[in-house]
Parts: sequence; C-alpha cells; structure tokens
Amino acid sequence: MSDQHYSAHAPHEPVPFISLIAQHQTLAHEVTAAVGRVLAEQKFILGEEVSQLETQVAKYCDSRSAIGCASGTDALILALMALGVGPGDEVITSPFTFFATASSICRLGAKPVFVDIDPKTFNIDPEAVEAAITPSTKAIMPVHLFGLCADMERLWRIAVSHGVSIVEDACQAIGAEYRGRRAGVLGTIGCFSFFPTKNLGGAGDGGMLTTDDADLCKQLRCLRVHGDTGNYHHTEIGLNSRLDAIQAAVLRIKLKHLDQWTEARRRNAQTYRELFVAYSLNDEIALPLEPREYKHVYNQFTVRIPGGRRDGVQQRLRANHIGAMVYYPIPLHVQPCFEHLGHRVGEFPEAEAASREVLSLPVYPEMPAHHPELVVRQLKAAFGQTRSQGDARRAA
Ligand SMILES: *Cc1c(COP(=O)(O)O)cnc(C)c1O
Repeated sequence: MSDQHYSAHAPHEPVPFISLIAQHQTLAHEVTAAVGRVLAEQKFILGEEVSQLETQVAKYCDSRSAIGCASGTDALILALMALGVGPGDEVITSPFTFFATASSICRLGAKPVFVDIDPKTFNIDPEAVEAAITPSTKAIMPVHLFGLCADMERLWRIAVSHGVSIVEDACQAIGAEYRGRRAGVLGTIGCFSFFPTKNLGGAGDGGMLTTDDADLCKQLRCLRVHGDTGNYHHTEIGLNSRLDAIQAAVLRIKLKHLDQWTEARRRNAQTYRELFVAYSLNDEIALPLEPREYKHVYNQFTVRIPGGRRDGVQQRLRANHIGAMVYYPIPLHVQPCFEHLGHRVGEFPEAEAASREVLSLPVYPEMPAHHPELVVRQLKAAFGQTRSQGDARRAA
C-alpha cells in the first residue's frame, strides 16, 4: 500500500513524539571523533573541553561567565547555595513545572512558596509573586516553561524593590529571548540542563550556570568541587557536580547547530498554527502563546484541550500511533512529598486546570515535514470522537 495515502481511518506510519536518532545521524562522524579525542587524552573531568564550552555558552547567552555542572537540577541547587539559601528561607516559584524546580529548594532546607500561573503563558504570575513576598523571601525562581520566558521585567522590578535575587530555571529555554536578551541573563543566575531531550542535549546528564556577577561565578566554581578553594582547603561544604569532558565535547559540536534547530522548531510551530486554522481546530483548542517581544524556542509545543477531553484525545492519538505527552499531569503543590507544606487541591486553580488540559505535540527539529499534518488530522478526528464532560453528564 502506498504510504502517500493518509486518512483518519487508514493506518499510517507512526509519528513519534521525539526521535533523537535523526539528529545524531547528521553529526555522527563529528561527535564520534570528538569523543575519541577525549578518550585518547584520558582527561574526563572538567578541563579544556569544559572551559571551551563554558566560554561558548557565555558568549551565546551574552553572559559574563558560564559554569558547567553535572545536571540542570544541580545547577538550580548550586545557584541557591551560592545565594546562601538555607533553612528558614523562602523561594517563590511555580507549581506547574518539572519536579526539580521545587525539589532543589527543599534540598537546601528552604521552603518553596508556590504561586499560581498565568493560564496563557503557563509561567508564574508576577502579581501573585508580589503578593507572596515576605521578610523570609530570599529569591524568586521563575521557570521559562516549554521555552517561553517568564515576564522578567515585572519580576525583576519586584526583586529589586524587595532586595531578593532571581534564579532563572532556563532548563527548557536555551536561546529563548525576552526583549532582545537571552534566557540566562535575565536574572541573577541562570540555570540550564543538557538532558538529552532539551533543545541542546548531551549524551547523558549535564548542566550549566550563567551569571554576570564575578563573586557568584567564583563561588559557583568552588561549590561544584566540594567547596574546595584550592589545595584541599574548604571554607564551605559544596557538591561533587562537574561536567564531564565527553559531554562538553559533544555539546560543543551541537551548540553550533542550536540556532538552526531552534528555527526548525519554530517552523514546525508555525506549521501547526496554519494547520489548526485549516482544520478549524483553533477555536476549540488553545495554541501556545508567543507574546510580542518574546522568542519562544518550543522545547514543547503545548496546546490546551478543555472540557475534560484531554485524556480521551491523548488515548485516541496513541491508538492511532501519534506520540503526544502530558507535561505535567500533577501540579507540585499536591505531590505527596510536599504534603508537609500544607497545600490543598483548589489552591492554585490555574496550575490545576493546566495539568488537566495540556497536551504536548511532536515539535522536534528533525520531524518529517508531513508529520504535523498527520498529527492535526488525527487530533481533529480524536477531538470529534471524545465527548466533553458536560456532554457525558447530559447523556447520563
Ligand atoms: C529538565 C529540567 C530540569 C532538570 O534538569 P536535569 O538536567 O534533568 O537535572 C529542571 N527544571 C526544568 C523546568 C526542566 O525542564
């Protein structure tokens, strides 16, 4: 049977949510050679590869310095450590994000103070942030969720007026821009992840911090090596959180292609927007917002499917071989491990509604050109077949 023939009923090729293999194939020779170079040298921890990558990432973000570390999670922990966050301190953040955003705060004995999100951007609502400031607030930790920067100017004004720092969780947002400046230089310290499915992904775990502050940079370099200030002299208890030379060698090759991959993600997003109009889905399903003066880098292309239909739609897409994922199904304030914070269901209605309605569609840069239409066609069919909760109640 010809695979040129697609319909909502005929079987078609699977549409993966993401495939890292296509990207690797385009770079396999270069990456293999770079890893071979590191193996030949047998210098695996930090070293020249890592400092070169640090210089390149600093330049990429227009930051004075960049500091490699073992993961995005560690970047968040190190940033808070460098700012002196500890027991008794509060850090304001989003309940609608990956777990590590809040766990990094708890790991240091501080308290995550959740505030609700703006339903259009999925990022923390600056007004709610302002209302949550107390004398114990030490920092604000906005997340640039899915690759769209938070409302940084308003957050920065709040931070300055209350004398608190900003740690950007930019793990999903390398290359994202806000008023012409890139994620990572919009707060006091920026935190990045090189987890393989991030926009700049390594061959394992890795992370990076960015800062313009020379003292913080010095402290971060010390904290990532057990707080060693040199010659086994320790003034602080740090972590063992270093970036491997192999990761840095791979990432240096990939960084050269990052802008081109970001453009491919943005083209895929634009294709979805046109297809949603063509298939008359744009009234019923909300597309991700890209406000003026922001550049979205679409680590995820996340739509909202209202009316209690999201899970049914996802199941039907799966049954029709379309990969679609829910990021994130459970807001952090109701996670069992944060029970001691005393939150209840209903406290952050926007974050909770987002958890029920979001669905992320495939958007990876190497996605075949005909896949967005397969996704939208199946989405149209799945949406039509899935009853809303209101319909189900009326029928019962
Ligand atoms: C991926 C991610 C992290 C953690 O990064 P790791 O490198 O996996 O430790 C933190 N915050 C957000 C928002 C992320 O997406």
